Amino acid sequence: MMNIVILGSTGSIGTQTLDIVRSRGDIRVVGLGAGRNIELLEKQIREFHPQYACVAEEEAARELTIRVADTDTQVLSGVKGMEALAAEPTAHTVVGAIVGIAGLRPSLAAVRTGKRLALANKETLVAAGDIMRRELQISGAELIPVDSEHSAVFQCLEAVAQTRRSAEVKRIILTASGGPFAGKTREELRDITPAVALRHPNWDMGAKITIDSATLMNKGLEVLEAAQLFCVSAEKIDVVIHRQSIIHSMIELTDGAVLAQMGVPDMKLPIQYALTYPKRMPMTDNTLDLAAIGSLTFEKPDMETFRPLALAYEAAKTGHTMPCVLNGANEAAVSLFLQNKIKFLRIGDLLAQVMQNHHIILNPTLEDIFEADQWAREQVLALTNQ
Ligand code: MG
Repeated sequence: MMNIVILGSTGSIGTQTLDIVRSRGDIRVVGLGAGRNIELLEKQIREFHPQYACVAEEEAARELTIRVADTDTQVLSGVKGMEALAAEPTAHTVVGAIVGIAGLRPSLAAVRTGKRLALANKETLVAAGDIMRRELQISGAELIPVDSEHSAVFQCLEAVAQTRRSAEVKRIILTASGGPFAGKTREELRDITPAVALRHPNWDMGAKITIDSATLMNKGLEVLEAAQLFCVSAEKIDVVIHRQSIIHSMIELTDGAVLAQMGVPDMKLPIQYALTYPKRMPMTDNTLDLAAIGSLTFEKPDMETFRPLALAYEAAKTGHTMPCVLNGANEAAVSLFLQNKIKFLRIGDLLAQVMQNHHIILNPTLEDIFEADQWAREQVLALTNQ
């Protein structure tokens, strides 16, 4: 039996992780953490009987406590509760699928207690990658990526490591579906509404990441995440638009050989691999039918229209607090867009402005990171007169 904790259990990654738990029978859920969807969390508690559940919002936590009073599950709340779940001694693996920088403290707690962290929250590594890496070294915890692109790169690197340890990676090539607006001009994107931007062609994800996908910020965050995860500079990470989302990412070796990991666009394989690594376990219903797909296409990303991707490369080059500021500003800007308070293209423009206004803090501490994040959010609100 493998004991796991799922943080963000009511989201897209969380529910798919529970699908895997349901189908396998050798995984026990000891903790579930969610933001505010207590309806679904209650159902999950009744099905999986975790020892602990945590709700980020205090009021929702109080309500859940009453609702599940007849069960053995103890309800915790807030960031402290999430940290306690992440550090739960009986858990071997923590699935980190909380959205945004809210995932940072729980991720750190999991790493500090030497667990395997199956990480789907990219903001953790973007905002505080250096700190995370230091903590990983100290505790010896394992960090396995769940994001499909990073899982693909990880799987390719594993394949190389098993055959030729000396093989050197020249380049990482992250694929991007391009989101719903690939190929569109700025003019065509001027009046995009949240409802339209939320319709992603290939992947079914939460609202924040779907908007990030439409602006290509998601790919920008993934570049920053990959740089930290695989210890390479962002200059060695390329992005290619691959609309079919069949190749999940690639590595290029020194001799020019390119290894790709392919599969149907479904998060279950990367989630399961992060849980069972280094073992590979059977999966059903995910056979890739290449003939049915017909062709795979590749294009250069348009970084002028999709400015956030260019800004992510810039933030990677600057380093220190800049990636965290870019991320914080983006979380605030996306939230304003989803509330219909700013236009779609304004997201990228705001990010550029906030980055320009930022005086970087060298070698930031965790406190510096949270301050920079807060500053970036306030900047977005000030620039938009909120
Ligand atoms: Mg991804």
